[in-house]
Amino acid sequence: MKILLLGKNGQVGWELQRSLAPLGELVALDRHGAEGLCGDLDDLSGLARTVRELRPHLVVNAAAHTAVDRAESEPDLARRRNAEAPGVLAQEAARLGAWLVHYSTDYVFDGSGEAAWREDDPVAPASVYGRTKAEGEAAIRAAGGPHLIFRTSWVYAARGGNFLRTMLRLAAERERLTVVDDQFGAPTGAELIADVTALAAREAAAGRAPGGTYHLVPGGVTNWHAYACHVIEAARRSAGAAVRATAVDPVPSSAYRTAARRPHNSRLDNHKLQQAFGLALPPWQAGVDRVLTEIGWPPAAGPATMA
Ligand code: NDP
Repeated sequence: MKILLLGKNGQVGWELQRSLAPLGELVALDRHGAEGLCGDLDDLSGLARTVRELRPHLVVNAAAHTAVDRAESEPDLARRRNAEAPGVLAQEAARLGAWLVHYSTDYVFDGSGEAAWREDDPVAPASVYGRTKAEGEAAIRAAGGPHLIFRTSWVYAARGGNFLRTMLRLAAERERLTVVDDQFGAPTGAELIADVTALAAREAAAGRAPGGTYHLVPGGVTNWHAYACHVIEAARRSAGAAVRATAVDPVPSSAYRTAARRPHNSRLDNHKLQQAFGLALPPWQAGVDRVLTEIGWPPAAGPATMA
């Protein structure tokens, strides 16, 4: 099986380089491309040419415009990367009969209520990021080819910019932190996403499970404040005095002004994925604790921003 991976250096893309490698010949690109192949979501004709030349059996798109707040002021760029580029990839993959795997987000929902969102609930995004991701999903479905769209939430990894790493850094710098406690969801490890992707793509391509849209999150639910406390307590257990933060105060979302509106309810129901692929998704704490061990304490220096 020949596989084309886009966005190889993102949180998920990095883990996909590992998990997809045993499935076949893997061509992994970042935005700069390689050997005449284009991996730039801004170059729609370059993407189309690359799929036509390479003729992969599977295209996995881990690249996206993920800067949620910046998307509010650059909607055209976000639309090109999150909607038009996936649409082009889907059309080209469909022409070949190749499978396309793509990632979407809890931000396609309006964040109301307390029930976990199911795959067939109506989308109603409240931000540019969410809207362009929903348009990307629609473009993939419209192309009519075999595909898997995995909606996930609150992605973290040992590398890259994410909430977990931001909390570790702030806990080392400050005595008091404030974190919102009225947004609910599940932190999802890039490792889990990549492992499930490899398994599901193989099953679906072999006709043993149906394609379509699936919610890919671990078990359980938390809020950002409880998640931060979990991370900081783990750091305190492993390093004690090196953790400066003595208090993590809960605050409502209204205490933080952000350009993009965050969903209050990001709970995603993952039963469909578990049933279709025979999976038992672990509780969210399992992946978080593993990455915390991997990062160690004090955390390695590097960019760590809210994501
Ligand atoms: P990251 O932000 O870690 O990675 C995104 C990647 O996209 C980066 O490697 C970036 O490259 C690349 N990229 C951005 N613009 C372009 C471009 N024009 N051409 C090529 N590559 C580009 O994202 P994640 O790994 O966290 O996200 C993976 C998927 O999961 C995305 O579809 C995202 O929407 C979705 N998702 C993410 C969530 C999260 O919390 N992060 C939550 C829910 C869904 P570069 O480094 O060069 O900028």
